[in-house]
Amino acid sequence: MYRARSFMPGRRALIASTATVAVGSAYLLYRPAYAESNFSHLDKKRPGPLWSPPSRAQMLEHLKTSGTYIHRQAEGGPEPGAVLKKEEAESEGDDVFDLLIVGGGATGAGTALDAASRGLKVACVERDDFASGTSSKSTKLVHGGVRYLQKAIFELDYEQWKLVKEALKERRVFLETAPHLSHMLPILLPIYTWWQLPYYYAGCKLYDILAGKENMESAYWMGKGKAMEAFPMLKDEGLVGGVVYYDGQHNDSRMNISLVMTAASHGAIMANHVEVTQLHKRPDPARGGEERIYAASVKDRMTGEEWKVRCRGVINATGPFSDGVRKLDEPTTKEIVAPSAGVHITLPNYYGPKTMGLLDPATSDGRVIFFLPWQGNVIAGTTDSPTTVSQNPVPQEKEIQWILDEVRNYLSPDVKVRRGDVLSAWSGIRPLVMDPAAKNTQSLVRNHMINISKGGLLTIAGGKWTTYRAMAEETVDAAIKEYGLKPNGPSTTEHIKLVGGHAWSKTMYIKLIQQFGLETEVAKHLSESYGDRAWTVASMAATTGQSWPLHGVRFSPLYPYIEAEARYAVRAEYALTAVDFIARRTRLSFLNVQVTLEALPRVIDIMGEELGWDRTKKESEFDNAVEFLKSMGLPEQSTKLKLADVAKSHGNIGTLGLADSEDAKLYARAQFTPDEVSNLKKQFEDLDFDHDQHISKDDLIHAMTTMGYNASTEIADSVLREVDFGRKGFVDFQDYLDIAAGLKELQLESAFTHLAQLDTSRKLNHTKAQIGEHATDSSEQRDTRRKIPVERSGGGT
Ligand SMILES: Cc1cc2nc3c(=O)[nH]c(=O)nc-3n(C[C@H](O)[C@H](O)[C@H](O)COP(=O)(O)OP(=O)(O)OC[C@H]3O[C@@H](n4cnc5c(N)ncnc54)[C@H](O)[C@@H]3O)c2cc1C
Repeated sequence: MYRARSFMPGRRALIASTATVAVGSAYLLYRPAYAESNFSHLDKKRPGPLWSPPSRAQMLEHLKTSGTYIHRQAEGGPEPGAVLKKEEAESEGDDVFDLLIVGGGATGAGTALDAASRGLKVACVERDDFASGTSSKSTKLVHGGVRYLQKAIFELDYEQWKLVKEALKERRVFLETAPHLSHMLPILLPIYTWWQLPYYYAGCKLYDILAGKENMESAYWMGKGKAMEAFPMLKDEGLVGGVVYYDGQHNDSRMNISLVMTAASHGAIMANHVEVTQLHKRPDPARGGEERIYAASVKDRMTGEEWKVRCRGVINATGPFSDGVRKLDEPTTKEIVAPSAGVHITLPNYYGPKTMGLLDPATSDGRVIFFLPWQGNVIAGTTDSPTTVSQNPVPQEKEIQWILDEVRNYLSPDVKVRRGDVLSAWSGIRPLVMDPAAKNTQSLVRNHMINISKGGLLTIAGGKWTTYRAMAEETVDAAIKEYGLKPNGPSTTEHIKLVGGHAWSKTMYIKLIQQFGLETEVAKHLSESYGDRAWTVASMAATTGQSWPLHGVRFSPLYPYIEAEARYAVRAEYALTAVDFIARRTRLSFLNVQVTLEALPRVIDIMGEELGWDRTKKESEFDNAVEFLKSMGLPEQSTKLKLADVAKSHGNIGTLGLADSEDAKLYARAQFTPDEVSNLKKQFEDLDFDHDQHISKDDLIHAMTTMGYNASTEIADSVLREVDFGRKGFVDFQDYLDIAAGLKELQLESAFTHLAQLDTSRKLNHTKAQIGEHATDSSEQRDTRRKIPVERSGGGT
């Protein structure tokens, strides 16, 4: 079927291409050197190697006393130390937080860091876990957005142009401040129509120009041969070549956790599993008696305990949940969030190269789809469909199928991506908002929006991960003005390295291997997930008892996550539930739900040791985790499993819970079970009369005659032709498996498969050869069996 690839009018495209090629060429000649950077003065102050963050109990203690005088360090910002009594506070003003931030996603954590690093007294509460909302469910790109640039040019939209430029600058800050968690990624735009080549090339060059001195590597084009070398799985039919451009990629939830820890190291009170349930107002004499927010009720969702937190201002950084908090302020307020779900799927790593992504800028329905290497697997997405707001939205099957279809369009027909290859699938809600202060309140804001209600609630929503820092800076500036706060200076977050980034280097993992005797894959993973904190994680690693590796017991042989990470997550990163660990501290559930389910009993045991869980608590942790895994694509049948079932299977659940169900077929990764393979081998051997490992024309004539068919060379030829795609004149066992796979998955029947199936059903063997047992069947039976249906005797597939 024809797919509309052209997503803009041809003539405009050509004019635009020509213009941008000219500008691009000029840029090529005069482009700035990559080495030039604004960021050579990054904050070198770092938490010492033995820095351990305040415990959650200490954080809650501060929250309960409304931050009653948080001890300030001599230099730098406040640091949560001992909670002092109210009488010990230096002044009455110390008795409240400057800011209470609601929401611990990218926006909330980024804002907390910005405010705390300016010396403000900050608390940030998150009702679930840090990054449990959209911030762990993104496409993981740190980007300006090539598609937005296209929009800016074709709609001559200067605002859009500025937004892309700002995001490109932030992209560079992002990569500089969190070097361990983010990196450059080349992305290929495959090109199947010649005129698209100058168009895409020019567009990507313009993207480079816009980034200016913050640019990464320059975009380049390559011919078909090189494109196929770089991306061997690509469909080569009609391929003209490709354009490669660069963007950033990161580990979103780890980035979020690193922001939380950095904010904590600057003195912010960061508390997860604490929900804002109410906002309190009182008349403000300074504003003519207007009712203004002065406190919020919060609830510790781990214990149910509730208390009041006093503050000068409340920042609503709850993304897609913004309306919920806005309604705590004004119950009748009009909703501003237009939630839209974006689904991603994770596929095994053999579907894409390890170091290059792919972008389809115009899918069959005009959307953009990315196909990117990530954490050792491949992720593909995303969709965009209206939804309702919920904490863990479940990806719809039709969205998963749409992504699979789009991916198949790009891959070689030999590479058959199947439903069973989807290792994990998740849905994130875009925090798209309408600005309540805008004249046209129906139109969505393009980027982010800051709105301050009459009662003083400051809502920051929209934007993207890439621009979290700039959004935070703008938010804190607005808060300082609105609430009359006294910071110790302007924002410095452009120069603050995040926890883990200070002493990190790309080769740090080698020292980890040398010092701890870790596997290379494990050492790399620790270095790229924890940065310089990897030393602390490695020092908690148990010995393996083997000659190599010496340390680091994995949860699963398939992924480099080690048991020490669960201890570290509890002790140093506020992980309180099994889901916190499998979804945000590590990314196991995003990579493979089945493996996560298998690893859960061990994760729960270790966290249980750290947090003192009894049997009942362990079981409820397991049930909650399974409920969460449902939103990550765990098949319905498996969600009925209990801790004891999985623990008994010793980390190898196989098709446990799926047996005898349609699900077992749908979610099977290998096309055939071991039993099926041995049956197919038997079938093959039965048909291969002369035992030469080939089913040839003679073998077929023999088989048909034995079955009582009227076999001629001509019929045997035509039967063989249907399946002998390589025109070898025979079918070997590998072909036979392919034919059987087609039959199993797509019901691709042919005269050959028909014969093969009859063959097994009749247990054809040499004792009954020559005539065949069915030669004696009644004539009616024989007639039905002998009739090879027309549709199966030539082109039946
Ligand atoms: C599918 C998809 C793909 C994306 N891909 C990219 C990308 O590749 N690059 C990019 O730059 N951006 C991307 N984005 C955008 C980016 O992910 C979001 O802009 C960003 O994560 C939003 O963060 P947030 O903190 O505003 O919201 P969230 O991460 O949703 O955080 C809000 C938090 O508030 C908490 N909360 C709600 N109510 C309360 C309460 N009463 N008390 C306490 N806490 C509360 C929630 O539990 C939640 O954790 C993508 C978005 C989506 C949906």
